[in-house]
Amino acid sequence: MKCSKSKPINEHLLRSWIRCRRKAWLEIYGDKQKKLWTAHSTLQLNHQIDCFHHLSQKSYGIGIQACEEGKNIVYGIRVKYPLIENRNIKGNLALLRKTSGESIWGNFSYQPVLARQGKKITREHKLILSMSGLLIKNLQKYQVSKGLILHKDHNNIKIEQIRLTDSINKELIDSLLILEKDIESKIPPPITSNRKKCTICSWRKDCNSIAKKGGYLSEISGIGAKREHLLIKNGIKDIKELSKIKHYELKGKLERHGIQHADISKQIILQSKSQATNKAIRLKTKITINNFKKAKGLLIYDIESDPDLKHDFLHGFIRLPNNLYNEIDLKKIKYSPLLNLEKDNESFLWKRIKKKLSYHKDLPILHYGETEPISLIRLGERQGANSSEIDSLKKRFIDIHSLIREYWCLPVRNYGLKSIAEFIGFEWEQSNVDGARALLWWRQWKRSRKLNKMYSRNLNSIFKYNSDDCLATLKIAKWLIDQE
Ligand code: SF4
Repeated sequence: MKCSKSKPINEHLLRSWIRCRRKAWLEIYGDKQKKLWTAHSTLQLNHQIDCFHHLSQKSYGIGIQACEEGKNIVYGIRVKYPLIENRNIKGNLALLRKTSGESIWGNFSYQPVLARQGKKITREHKLILSMSGLLIKNLQKYQVSKGLILHKDHNNIKIEQIRLTDSINKELIDSLLILEKDIESKIPPPITSNRKKCTICSWRKDCNSIAKKGGYLSEISGIGAKREHLLIKNGIKDIKELSKIKHYELKGKLERHGIQHADISKQIILQSKSQATNKAIRLKTKITINNFKKAKGLLIYDIESDPDLKHDFLHGFIRLPNNLYNEIDLKKIKYSPLLNLEKDNESFLWKRIKKKLSYHKDLPILHYGETEPISLIRLGERQGANSSEIDSLKKRFIDIHSLIREYWCLPVRNYGLKSIAEFIGFEWEQSNVDGARALLWWRQWKRSRKLNKMYSRNLNSIFKYNSDDCLATLKIAKWLIDQE
């Protein structure tokens, strides 16, 4: 393992480090073959381009020359400076905006701009702005007191100002010093306890398999960073140890730290037993929902969404023409994708969905998780559905995720659709796909449509992904019935 002291730290590495210390280390020393491609960085880049486009003005330029000429907007400044002793910090500053001040170029100065996705301003945004600010300060020889954050709110671009205070700058320097230590180490920092972060990380395949092999407590659904810390403090270091402890004993140990920890003790012991032995544990016997078991057929429903625009762009249904007790004949299953091209034009979509649901009015609607019924009911309410329509719609929904959680404890890290489908042996036809990939395809398809170049392949890929989500839900439902 080479550990290079001269390895420059840049904003990409800092970003990775803020997300997870181990991630930054892996970005330098990890085996790139084990790294998965994820759609998130492309989505982020596209989002940045859209936001920056909003700021574009007549007076813009590229590089230091544009600063010397006093352009209002400057793209692509590359700069490096030892913000910490003996270590160059490199910045590839995507966009600077001219503001008041006294820089080496005249009676003006520049401030950094970044684009953010997600609902809130995070520590990551603040530290990246702080790093850009300190690098610009060194370049222009004038203090940078504020940075700008652009983000999309529906179709509008909003601009927020962030004060780059001494305390943010100090937090940055402290972070850079720890980051430097981390990347000088021969061994990677530990796997994060907050495993939700791993879901979208490109190193998840490697880290998940290490955590599974090592029986890490964070592998257990219901154990986050805090609970893991509490368990370790109480002498329980891994899944095996957790699976062997008596319920009343654990409850007693955790009670001191809050009733919420004591309440979950039985559940996490059971979960650890299932994972330690790799066996499914039945929690209840017969499923008592009659319309699930006796229905003459089923509709299975899944939505694809653009979270930035709060736009459900695809409502996918498959129909099973018979009872779940029969074998599933894939040839008899029909998939219907109902697209909603524009968020503000839902009346046609609602008419089509209503038609479909009333044509199959006796069939329950299976879905995985809470999102689908909430979205469909809200759509109906927006389109003026009356209370009896809404009530009868509500009665038709059957949440397969809730049923799984109520009836089974399974040897899985989480109870998301992908994990449970993998457990029962279902595979998506397209490899390495997820909601983010579908969103990227959708945005690419929409863009190309505007340019009159139909990327039908992207749309077909979204349909395939969505129909496989529905099929996975159906197969899990069938698995539930088959276990009775
Ligand atoms: S998969 Fe998780 S633990 Fe591994 S680098 Fe990514 S965020 Fe960190």
